[in-house]
Amino acid sequence: MLKTLAYAAAAAKSPLAPYSFERREPKEHDVVIDIKYCGICHTDVHLARDEWGGGIFPMVPGHEIVGVVTRVGSHVAKFKPGDKVGVGCLVDSCRVCDHCRDHLEQYCLNGMSLTYSSYEQDKKTVTQGGYSDKIVVDENYVLRIPGNLPLDAAAPLLCAGITLYSPLIHWHAGPGKKVAILGLGGLGHMGVKIAHALGAEVTVLSHSLKKQADGKRLGADHFYATSAPETFAKLAGSFDLIVCTVGTGIDWNQYLGLLKLDGTMVVVGVPAEQIPLAAFSLIGMRRTLAGSLIGGIEETQEMLDFCGKHDIVSDVEVIPIQKVNEAYDRVVKSDVRYRFVIDLASLKPA
Ligand SMILES: [Zn+2]
Ligand SMILES: [Zn+2]
Repeated sequence: MLKTLAYAAAAAKSPLAPYSFERREPKEHDVVIDIKYCGICHTDVHLARDEWGGGIFPMVPGHEIVGVVTRVGSHVAKFKPGDKVGVGCLVDSCRVCDHCRDHLEQYCLNGMSLTYSSYEQDKKTVTQGGYSDKIVVDENYVLRIPGNLPLDAAAPLLCAGITLYSPLIHWHAGPGKKVAILGLGGLGHMGVKIAHALGAEVTVLSHSLKKQADGKRLGADHFYATSAPETFAKLAGSFDLIVCTVGTGIDWNQYLGLLKLDGTMVVVGVPAEQIPLAAFSLIGMRRTLAGSLIGGIEETQEMLDFCGKHDIVSDVEVIPIQKVNEAYDRVVKSDVRYRFVIDLASLKPA
């Protein structure tokens, strides 16, 4: 077994603290990864504090993992020691259901294995995430990081990047399309960069104009404050696609009114409240309200290659793991531009 150093939440609501555990010896198709950096996703905070219930403790969070391959199993064909690789939100799935066969493992009908607070496909071994010094993952669930991307800033692509890329591709963001990104945080800032690189006309809808200069720098063509009442009148019927990244309650009917005929609003952020909706917000202009969950392994690799080609990474604040609890409080307050990334070198004994 491989002794692994980590930070874990011992129980719901416990702060994260040093923890050690064992990972499996690599099997034939496994890759052993020396983790260099791991992004902090808002989901990590929700799960470590058990805000959605069902958390498995002790919990080592982290699903924006990048590192270097140190060992491979005897049958591994895709990777070799020294390769720069990533692991995102899932580490396995059933591989035989219709969705897995269609490269949509994130919608596995038999239950995917999430990277942490979940179970391996044996349905009994608990998975532990990237706030740790190493991870062992089947090669079919490991991604290749393009050589030109810095590892620290590439880490958030593994969740934030694919969470935005997948709906932007699915709903055809590109030249001639007007796309709005609602919320300019960890998810939203990736949405702006990717939608801009896809050739869409990009509008940021943010609570205030505080981040306007950033929005333009990230690639937005337009920037509007949703706190200004005239915004909704001015932009009524404007967009082909709105991607909603915010985790707070909004007036859904008001936002649907910003869509054109046949426009779609996609939910990727997770508000605590249920979504109240007036039927005519949809019926009036044949609009769609949809949702999207990360992306499959093949699409995640496609996203990484796209980001490599367009030099897209996340805007990050790199921290030592000892500051993780402080970072969690700042994530909740949206006090980060735009993603915390943990430098796992800080975990190793001096
Ligand atoms: Zn995430
Ligand atoms: Zn499946």
